[in-house]
Amino acid sequence: MIINADLHIHSLYSGATSNKMNIKNISLAAPRKGIEVMATGDCLHSGWIKEIKTCNILDEGTFELNGTRFILSAEIEGEHRVHHLLYFPSFSSVETFKEKIKPYSKNLETDGRPNVHLSGENLASLAKDVDALIGPAHAFTPWTSLYAHYSSLRECYGDLTNYISFIELGLSADSDYADKIQELHRLTYLTNSDCHSTHPVRLAREFNRFEVVDATFDEIKKAILRQKGNGPVLNVGLPPEEGKYNESACPSCYTHYTLEEATRRHWNCSCGKKIKKGVRDRIEEKASYKDALHPKHRPPYLHIIPLSEIITKAVKQHSPFTKTVDRKWNELVEEFGNEISVLVDANIDDIARITTPAICEAIEAFRNKKVRIIPGGGGKYGCIELPNEERILSVSLGPSDNQKSILEY
Ligand SMILES: [Zn+2]
Ligand SMILES: [Zn+2]
Repeated sequence: MIINADLHIHSLYSGATSNKMNIKNISLAAPRKGIEVMATGDCLHSGWIKEIKTCNILDEGTFELNGTRFILSAEIEGEHRVHHLLYFPSFSSVETFKEKIKPYSKNLETDGRPNVHLSGENLASLAKDVDALIGPAHAFTPWTSLYAHYSSLRECYGDLTNYISFIELGLSADSDYADKIQELHRLTYLTNSDCHSTHPVRLAREFNRFEVVDATFDEIKKAILRQKGNGPVLNVGLPPEEGKYNESACPSCYTHYTLEEATRRHWNCSCGKKIKKGVRDRIEEKASYKDALHPKHRPPYLHIIPLSEIITKAVKQHSPFTKTVDRKWNELVEEFGNEISVLVDANIDDIARITTPAICEAIEAFRNKKVRIIPGGGGKYGCIELPNEERILSVSLGPSDNQKSILEY
């Protein structure tokens, strides 16, 4: 069977996360985005584990609520601020792992995403002991990722490098970016939302489509390891330019720089702050090839733009978090079952009957790759522009010279 899975989120127990990120709200929001399986996130936190235990337990590592399935996952900030993602086979494996890392963490009980003073190699070794999967989260971002600090997987995971089976690409990268780096070719790529809210512009903005026998932890593990015929069949995510660390840019004034300009300026912005290296440039530095070379097992990558972002532009709102956008999103999702059907599958004439001409045209523009994307950087998301829209770049981006790199999408 084919399942869609978003395998990295945060609960209300993580910092800067919506207090509505409880298990019930997540279970109800997922199917509306077309998602069958969610990873719980934050499963090292006792409060969150208590909530997870209110779900129906299907097997040791698989839980269900309102038709949505969950598997146990957590993100850890390890040594040098590198973020790691973990998937656990059972509650008991979570408990054992937690006991082991306890001496190295001060915020295990207070933050859903704990800081643990252990190297990638040590964390991978402890994960292996309890049969958990581990790999780098948002591997290329400039603050808290593997490639922000290290120049190879081996530098981070040492003798345990071969135990690493996946990397998470993060919002600012896709397979065409990552497959320029040869050491990543053997790994499965995960595309997850890393969301802090159930809002449809966030939850499942990236997800994985897997071929599995059943929607359970064991089957998803086999899919990540690409064993017994299981495997990823599609990565789905934002165009990388939409990510907030796509281009190199200043995190204070958001001026964008090319890699050459930034290097020439020794990464000093004209405003006095340090320029943050974009994912695109970090990958260029690490690239083994000029163009991506995809290994045989790599599935296609489908770029999507969240429906509520498309609606926001079509109805000329300034934010996707308004009642008008919500109402228009709901009308479409109620009719066609879930967001991915509206974006990709539904007949455009049927969409026209349900919604306004402006929204219908915007969905068509997305399907025909006519939506432009103004790249993000320095911590600010990229934004989209519909074909006939007037440019208001100064409002959306701040002072910037990246008009050059507006991309057709
Ligand atoms: Zn993270
Ligand atoms: Zn600046």
